[in-house]
Amino acid sequence: MVIGIDFDDTCVNTWQILEEKYKKDYPEVIIKDHENSPWDKEKIIMRKHMAEIVWQVNIYDGLKEFLNYCKDHHIKTILLTARGGEIQEIIEPTKEFIRKNNLAFDEMVFGLDKKGEACQKYGVDLMIDDSRRVLDDVAQYGIKTLRFGVKDDKHDYVLSWCDALLYIMKGD
Ligand SMILES: [Mg+2]
Repeated sequence: MVIGIDFDDTCVNTWQILEEKYKKDYPEVIIKDHENSPWDKEKIIMRKHMAEIVWQVNIYDGLKEFLNYCKDHHIKTILLTARGGEIQEIIEPTKEFIRKNNLAFDEMVFGLDKKGEACQKYGVDLMIDDSRRVLDDVAQYGIKTLRFGVKDDKHDYVLSWCDALLYIMKGD
């Protein structure tokens, strides 16, 4: 079995950190919904604060245990992230963050804008992501989807990594 895992807001709380940053330093940037945030403005802020933001995020509880369980049970995990698509300088620090925090992914792919295609290419059986838009795309390829952190009436969902672990234990 191969599991694809998104990074921002699935492994770490990037949005919460960005939102706090905006409120504090960029009150003119008004964002109602982070899936539709003003990326043109965000890009400028991200570029400027990239180095700190990479290290400020918190890893969601239970992720390490989930990845370790996968490793012990010969389930392959691939990080599939859009991060680094436009701001390529963020890739190396992100890899370092992942390595220093012992997140045991078997493979990592950055800069993806079409995750459905990527899931097919890498033989993913289950994709875990917080974004409904991404999962809608992945599902079109006949790949199973699991939405992270948000209740969903279309995709299976879990609200924590502990639940995600139970979900895959039930399935294997
Ligand atoms: Mg995400």
